[in-house]
Amino acid sequence: MLDIAVMYHYVRSQDWKGIVPLEPEIFEKQIDILSKSYEIVSPEVLNKPKGLKPRCVLTFDDGTKDQYTNAFQIMKRKGVPGYFTAMSGPLVDKVIPIFNLVHIVLSLHPDEEIWEELKTTYDVAGVPQLSGIYHYEKDIFRRYNKYALNFFLSQEQTRSFLQEKALKLYGTSENLINQYYVNKSEFLDMKSQGMTIGVHCGHHIPYSGDANKFYEMEIEPCGRFLSNELHITPEWYTPAFGGGEHYKAMFRELEPILRERGYKAGFATTPGKNDGLSHFWLNRYDCIHLPPFGSIED
Ligand SMILES: [Zn+2]
Repeated sequence: MLDIAVMYHYVRSQDWKGIVPLEPEIFEKQIDILSKSYEIVSPEVLNKPKGLKPRCVLTFDDGTKDQYTNAFQIMKRKGVPGYFTAMSGPLVDKVIPIFNLVHIVLSLHPDEEIWEELKTTYDVAGVPQLSGIYHYEKDIFRRYNKYALNFFLSQEQTRSFLQEKALKLYGTSENLINQYYVNKSEFLDMKSQGMTIGVHCGHHIPYSGDANKFYEMEIEPCGRFLSNELHITPEWYTPAFGGGEHYKAMFRELEPILRERGYKAGFATTPGKNDGLSHFWLNRYDCIHLPPFGSIED
C-alpha cells in the first residue's frame, strides 16, 4: 500500500494563451477522485503509521496567487490539507524570476507581436535557424520567442525586455508581485487553516552542482523568510525545476545538508509512488497525468 504526491502549478481558468493551467473545476474533481482511494494528508502525516488507505499529499509549486484564491479556497471548503511552497525572491528581494516573466508576457501578447518587437530591439537574425529545439511548438513565432528569451539573449536583455512589457500591465513591480504571488498574510491564513508551508527557492535557479553554495543562495534565504515572517520551522523542500538537469547529483549532495538542517523530505518531479518517509526525495505525479485526463497507473 504505497503513498503518492501530486504536483500542481497554476490552478486557474484557461484564460492564458500557451500556458496550460489546471481548471479549478478539474482540480476539485481530482480531489473527489483521489479521496476514494487515498487519504489526503499533510506531509507530517507521512511519518505516522498508515491507516486503512494509502496517503496522498497535494503539493503546490511557485506560490502563485491562484493557489491562494482558487486551490486553497476549494481545499478549505472540502476540508483537505495540502503542502504549499514559497519563493522568497519576489517577496523579500522584490525580484521576479524570469520564467514567470516569460509566462506573463507570452500569455498576454500574440507571439507574432513579441517577435516583431524583439527584431526591432535586438539583433535576433540568428534565432530562426537555431530554434529547432522548440520544434514541438506549433506556432513558429512562439518557437522563435522562446529560443530568443531562454537561450539567445543575455539574462539582462531578457529581463529588461520582459519586465518593461509586464510593467505596462501591472504598473509597478510591487503591484505585479502583490497580484501574482501569495503574500505573507495569505500564507499566514493558509497556515492557520492547517496547510503546510515549505521552501521552494530564492530565485528559481536550477541546481548549480555546488551543494553548500546552492543551499546558501537558494534554500537558506527562503527558509529564513519562513521562520522570520511566517514563524514556521522549514522542514519541507521542493527544488526549482526538480533540480534541473543535475537532479541526480542534487539528490545525493543536498540530502545530507538538508537533513542536518532539520528538513524531513524533498518533493522531486520524478513520477512514482512513495512509502511514507522511507526515502528523503519523494516522487510526484504531475496533476495532468491524473484522472480525468490520465491514470496514475500509467
Ligand atoms: Zn517552480
